[in-house]
Amino acid sequence: MKRLRELLQRIDGRGYKAYKQIKGSYRFTDFQLSIDHVQGDPFALPSRISLQLNPQQHGLPTSLWQTPIRKIALEDFLARAVAEAITQHVKGRRGTGRSGDVEIATSGQQVLQRNAVLIDKSQLDVRLLFALPGSGRSILGEQAAEMFFSELPQIVADALSWNNRCLQEMQQHVEQVEAQETLRSRLSELNAVAFVGNGSLLPRAGGIDDQPLKNGVPFQSPPALEKTLQLPNIGEVTGMAIPPGVTLIVGGGYHGKSTLLQALERGVYNHIPGDGRELVATLGDAVKIRAEDHRAVNQVDISPFIGTLPGNRPTDCFSTDNASGSTSQAANIIEALEAGATCLLIDEDTSATNFMIRDSRMQQLVPDHQEPITPLLHRVRELYETEGVSTVIVTGGSGDYLAVADTVIMLDNYQVFDATDKAKHLAGETPPRVNAAPRLRPSNLRNLSLQTGPLPGQREAKILVREQRLLEYGRKRIDLSKVEQLIDAGQTEAIGRLLALCQQQQPDQPEGLAGALKAALQQVEADGLDILLPWKAGHLALPRFYELLAAANRLRQKS
Ligand code: ADP
Ligand code: MG
Repeated sequence: MKRLRELLQRIDGRGYKAYKQIKGSYRFTDFQLSIDHVQGDPFALPSRISLQLNPQQHGLPTSLWQTPIRKIALEDFLARAVAEAITQHVKGRRGTGRSGDVEIATSGQQVLQRNAVLIDKSQLDVRLLFALPGSGRSILGEQAAEMFFSELPQIVADALSWNNRCLQEMQQHVEQVEAQETLRSRLSELNAVAFVGNGSLLPRAGGIDDQPLKNGVPFQSPPALEKTLQLPNIGEVTGMAIPPGVTLIVGGGYHGKSTLLQALERGVYNHIPGDGRELVATLGDAVKIRAEDHRAVNQVDISPFIGTLPGNRPTDCFSTDNASGSTSQAANIIEALEAGATCLLIDEDTSATNFMIRDSRMQQLVPDHQEPITPLLHRVRELYETEGVSTVIVTGGSGDYLAVADTVIMLDNYQVFDATDKAKHLAGETPPRVNAAPRLRPSNLRNLSLQTGPLPGQREAKILVREQRLLEYGRKRIDLSKVEQLIDAGQTEAIGRLLALCQQQQPDQPEGLAGALKAALQQVEADGLDILLPWKAGHLALPRFYELLAAANRLRQKS
């Protein structure tokens, strides 16, 4: 501490670059401070520091992190506690640019595996962004000293030191997350693809505000779909179990259909206590499918849905830089099958109409041989019966789907009813199966180049995230803005680094693209996110395999 104080005094008022001298490790009373990287100027990305506490210093009971899910939950809790302490104790603006900012990465309403806080038996390691203060280009040494010697110890005392109040909250956080994880793992036992607990609050405060809506109508399962199970830590839980097969969510406009589907999309992740979706769990391999015109498609066999295109263009190995609504939605389904998804989530609001349905009048006007598209309506049963893939489809407009549904959930004023019997009564004939159509599941292994040249003048390919879902991967850009289950910029960056890792380790992809990416992801799951970075940082989050493959699938092959 003394050494750092002296250094800061010595460089006070000097050019900003002199901050480089403080890189290194310092012993504080209650923790070890490590200054891992020093920024070049007050406008650059903030400096990276980390704090290490040994078990005597943090006093956290081993029981709170002894299983993988408990460890993720505890680390998540501590990162949020640090974020809260930052808002309490950090003064913020202390000069030019970002001077004085302190940040830690957290996951919004979800709980993700991250590397901002890592605990193991030897230490607790906490990584922060720490914008060293400067006035223009000169060092504000006294301001920096205040940040290091006043703000930082207060953050540690509030967020990372043992005290009873905090321990109880911490335990509750860990136990709730563990219960959610268990709920998800019990879905198949329950014969369900998804579960929504009674009392859940599904609507969100706003379009970009993921907090729960105040005074929303709590979820209540219709009796016919209700199931009860026992969960660890929280005991008996009752709610709606959506069975495998084809499920429709129907109801009038603005009655809450998309809100329910969105909760299911997010149900592949655990949520923080108080979110309202703690008891919403969807199979971990459920994938949202939507239309995504203008996306790139690489060598995908979309022939199960799209036959020969104008100009005699075959579709069994389809590539384009600019897909249409229907071809993009078809590619999204085939890619999800390739990835091993067993549940597809579809909302008519974000679907291509001609991909979903084709009514008889249109069939009379445009004869079948002129229409390359086989709508999902005609293959959705086969998807379940021969491939074992369930679908949950939101539809307010097309009654044709009633004939292919196993379960129909109706929303009326945000209340949920089982409309299966009524729907079966109204349903016409089941649309004929398209026998001559090609097999749904792709049999070929795709190999795609994940190569991207380094930028001019750079040794290493740069990986950067703009906004949440725009990935700059070396010279290429991958637009993931429509990949809705990608929820965190830290996941997006991890995806970029995983693509690069995969390219280095398996450039020839002997097991195909999906196999190579799976191997890279498994390595990170086993060894931690830190293996993706050559330096110490704390902003990465673990993506799912589906979003990782989604990024590779959208990589434009031509530069
Ligand atoms: P739909 O897809 O049926 O047209 P949405 O799901 O988009 O309807 O919901 C319409 C509006 O109602 C949204 O603003 C949403 O936040 C709100 N909403 C949805 N579910 C509830 C609920 N349970 N309680 C209160 N408001 C809700
Ligand atoms: Mg809707």
